Amino acid sequence: MTVAATERLIAPHGGALVDGTGARPDGLEALEQIPLTSRELSDLDMLASGALSPLEGFMGRADYERVIEEMHLVDGLPWALPVCLAVDAAPAGDRVALVDDSGKPVAVLDVDEVFDYEKEREAELCFRTTDDAHPGVARLYEQRPLYLAGRVTVFERARPEFPELALDPADTRRAFAERGWKRVVGFQTRNPIHRAHEYLTKVALETVDGLLVHPLVGETKADDVPVEVRVNCYQTLLDGYYPPDRVVLSAFPAAMRYAGPREAIWHAICRKNYGCSHFIVGRDHAGVGDYYGTYDAQLVFDEFAPHELDVEPMFFEHTFWCNVCGSMASTKSCPHGAEDRVMLSGTKVREMLGQGDVPPVEFTRPEVAEVLIDAYRRD
Ligand SMILES: [Zn+2]
Repeated sequence: MTVAATERLIAPHGGALVDGTGARPDGLEALEQIPLTSRELSDLDMLASGALSPLEGFMGRADYERVIEEMHLVDGLPWALPVCLAVDAAPAGDRVALVDDSGKPVAVLDVDEVFDYEKEREAELCFRTTDDAHPGVARLYEQRPLYLAGRVTVFERARPEFPELALDPADTRRAFAERGWKRVVGFQTRNPIHRAHEYLTKVALETVDGLLVHPLVGETKADDVPVEVRVNCYQTLLDGYYPPDRVVLSAFPAAMRYAGPREAIWHAICRKNYGCSHFIVGRDHAGVGDYYGTYDAQLVFDEFAPHELDVEPMFFEHTFWCNVCGSMASTKSCPHGAEDRVMLSGTKVREMLGQGDVPPVEFTRPEVAEVLIDAYRRD
């Protein structure tokens, strides 16, 4: 494959993919060790892979301030959420070792600065709430009090939970180029894919060359469907209902922040790094509870100049099966009433699956329902 094949794809954010990896340095044992939370480890792995390009490390104060206030980095590039490492105190040396959850050093950070931050201010600006019942805000409030900034060099990558789905941005770009794709739409999800989301991925796919199904496999809320069950659902659905030469399934290693609108922007920028020219934004993207308006995650894209993000958002309405239309549809495309539409609440679906009942085929593919029913049975 020629270089030109990957150059047909959208350019990474900032122009080039960052490689945050490097050799294990000498003198590691002497360095102060900084333990990372699961969210920080997710961010570190994305810094390593270039998924957070152009970031080369954890943010300094100037970028942090501009990001939380104006959704841009100091150099003017759009960026929606802080990528910061919280510590208890300023380290003594100018280099520290970053340690994973088993206590093993996996990266070094060359210290640029240590700065303090106001948790409530960050919460209000990034999450639009200071309520500690919000899972992202709760995690922010539990953080250590200072941010440690600096370039990272990752010498040991996290072991992926699903090695066959672990594709870095360079890998997805290669996969797209090998298939001859130029325009690729990314689909983020943290749920099993039922008919509604199958439909909107396919509507999007009709207008581009390929689809990246990119489920988030980083940390989510305890009540989200377990990741191994979801991955089984995705594989089952793709095997039965999508042409293999038009779809790539890969895991998105980010931790959920539940920051709604800002996370939608952040997700879109990350997918641009993976080679997606388009990104699907449904209603309530990355939301939780009722902290965000239904369309906030779509409206926030208007806060950027046309083409400033480069990656093109594709907005979708809530979709459903309509018995009169005899097809999947949305309120944009179907004139019929609620009585003609097959719509089930999440609670109702969980109740059915828990009892071993297969939901209507208009709501979910039977093969996917079987995977979910099996999972409930094992609980
Ligand atoms: Zn209809």
